[in-house]
Amino acid sequence: MIQMKNTDKKIAIVSNYKQHSQELGQELMQKLRQEGFILTLKNPDIVISVGGDGMLLSAFHRFERQLDKVRFIGVHTGHLGFYTDYQSFELDELVENLKMDRGARVSYPILGVRVALENGDVYHMKALNESTFKRSDRTMVADVFINKVHFERFRGDGISISTPTGSTAYNKSLGGAVLHPSIEALQIAEMASLNNNIYRTLGSPIIVPKKDKIEIIPTRTDRHTITIDNRTYTHKNIEKVEYQIDHHKIHFVATPRHTSFWNRVKDAFIGDIEE
Ligand code: NAP
Ligand code: MN
Repeated sequence: MIQMKNTDKKIAIVSNYKQHSQELGQELMQKLRQEGFILTLKNPDIVISVGGDGMLLSAFHRFERQLDKVRFIGVHTGHLGFYTDYQSFELDELVENLKMDRGARVSYPILGVRVALENGDVYHMKALNESTFKRSDRTMVADVFINKVHFERFRGDGISISTPTGSTAYNKSLGGAVLHPSIEALQIAEMASLNNNIYRTLGSPIIVPKKDKIEIIPTRTDRHTITIDNRTYTHKNIEKVEYQIDHHKIHFVATPRHTSFWNRVKDAFIGDIEE
């Protein structure tokens, strides 16, 4: 077996703008350099994001063209997050684990988004948490197809399509279910749908399996907004938006003491309530 030396591993550290994160990033950089790791933002093997889950979303988009090669690690400067395995006081443990690392990874599905404009332009994007589709100025009216079945004509604020790991983010605020990230599925959640004796949507979140394609076709092609995680795009002439589980995945460095997903959910949303 070929033993991987620390010097064979290229590590990128990206921090958010907060002073604490910047300092922590610097400290981590020094510790890793001392151990012989190469620190570079160019073609890294490992990307360490310092900040919160929001920072990991930014790191994901920065390296989204290199997903097959890169493994991510999240360090949270506040509490324990969903994409973060380490907290700010655990840098030494992180360095030790990286020294022992032999390439093991944990992978999660991401969302592929295809936007087709009326002029024939097509954009492909990837989301780690979710993508939402809304009309900018008035009530959105759109036909929703699931695997070519015309499912419903939606009227309301918009529609969110989330990944399993994104299910605890915006999706949860919209009344969507929390999905264990080992389940390869997408979730459709409505944003304030109009439901009365003229307009009808299912009204509940839907969980769609891996192979199914979701298509949303707006009935009017005026300004619509598409969000991809923490980014927003506005277009005037969207013909159709398609969503499917992407054929790439996001990989994380597998940590020896990976916190259970249910612990994270409990920590984030329930906490320690006295009984
Ligand atoms: P933000 O508005 O600064 O923060 C959104 C919050 O969501 C932060 O507390 C963030 O955690 C948390 N978060 C991010 N990903 C999560 C996940 N997978 N599970 C649970 N919580 C998560 O925006 P941001 O930090 O750039 O993050 C963008 C995300 O915000 C979007 O992808 C969307 O999911 C979410 N969002 C939610 C709503 C809503 O709930 N009404 C509205 C818009 C956007 P950290 O503090 O650790 O960064
Ligand atoms: Mn944030």
